[in-house]
Amino acid sequence: MNLHEYQGKEILNSFGVRIQRGYVAQTPDEAVAAAKKLTEETGTGWHVIKAQVHAGGRGKGGGVKLAKSLDEVKTIADQIIGMDLVTPQTSAEGKRVHQVLVAEDVYYPGDSEPEEYYMSVLLNRGTGRNMIMYSTEGGMDIETVAEETPHLIFHEEIDPATGLLPFQARKIAFNLGLSGAAFKDMTKFVAALYKAYTDSDSSLFEINPVLKTSDDKIMAVDAKVSLDDNALYRRKDYAAMRDKREENQVEVEAGEKGLNYVDLDGNVGCMVNGAGLAMATMDLIKQSGGEPANFLDVGGTADAERVEAAFQLILKDPAVKAILVNIFGGIVRCDRVAQGIIDAYKNMGTINVPIIVRLQGTNADIAKKLIDDSGLDVQSAIEFKEAADKVQAVLA
Ligand code: GDP
Ligand code: MN
Repeated sequence: MNLHEYQGKEILNSFGVRIQRGYVAQTPDEAVAAAKKLTEETGTGWHVIKAQVHAGGRGKGGGVKLAKSLDEVKTIADQIIGMDLVTPQTSAEGKRVHQVLVAEDVYYPGDSEPEEYYMSVLLNRGTGRNMIMYSTEGGMDIETVAEETPHLIFHEEIDPATGLLPFQARKIAFNLGLSGAAFKDMTKFVAALYKAYTDSDSSLFEINPVLKTSDDKIMAVDAKVSLDDNALYRRKDYAAMRDKREENQVEVEAGEKGLNYVDLDGNVGCMVNGAGLAMATMDLIKQSGGEPANFLDVGGTADAERVEAAFQLILKDPAVKAILVNIFGGIVRCDRVAQGIIDAYKNMGTINVPIIVRLQGTNADIAKKLIDDSGLDVQSAIEFKEAADKVQAVLA
């Protein structure tokens, strides 16, 4: 689950990672109130107004702006709230901004060269270890740095048995070219950041930029935090941070119905039971010249209600030109699934997309007969390849 910057910073702050402070605001008036509060607490006169959407590159899209007075706070907040922010990481339509973070300006005026670094914590799946990835080239796209100056990106792998060791934090501070108070502060920052990552059950932290202020303080100016969904059950407070407005609406609806659905770009809708079979089905669709429009695992109980819910989800995607139902009847019997498909089809009235159903396993032959005798515009198949060929034929 992805978080907004302000939520990620709340988590960092709770673990003692120094952050650029701020308050979230839903309206321009709230933004002004937040700015006044920050001035009282931090003495800052200038504020940055930052669009809160689940996408990076906001600065480039005009979603991060400096306000030098309360009037400017109001005008800028008014501009940003409600805009469709387009960044290199959003679609061309952009993302609607519902709220802004009003933060203290930490790039002090007169600071000739604020130092910006890049730092992320993530799991290296190759070695099965967490690692800290960092670079002197902060504030810009890390992808660009990786392409043009890969030698400026460093990695530090952490042994799960010992956790992050003090020498590793020092090595990071050293490689970032720090000395004196900033060096010491960076070692503290790294240690707190790593503890925050592990103790919050996160799967990704990306802090870009990490800032060194002119008075040698290290702080997180931005925060991209992804939490591990599988651990959310034990962190109700984090689970409550979910902002469904930022997610794919069809995926949210599927989740509410207990269906495992991921929206994809292709033209063949898939309804499958089991994630492994779903993957194999997507491969076969590709091989036969189609592109999967979605990943959909209906799970073990493919009854009429679930099958209908699944059809409805798939048909929300206007790009779908055919639907392939590929279900293995192990625990659930094929004839029951077939009846579910027939009932769902009849319930829905007309479906204007060809449907190919492949049912394999217990009572597959009875299931095929049920489908064939139903009088509905549904093609049946028993073999995987046969189903794929039928999909290819309807797409042609
Ligand atoms: P992103 O563009 O979505 O990655 O958003 P960031 O939070 O990284 O902000 C983008 C850029 O805004 C940063 O790289 C900074 O250069 C700038 N910025 C962020 N905070 C401040 C601030 O307090 N003062 C000033 N002057 N600039 C800031
Ligand atoms: Mn950033």
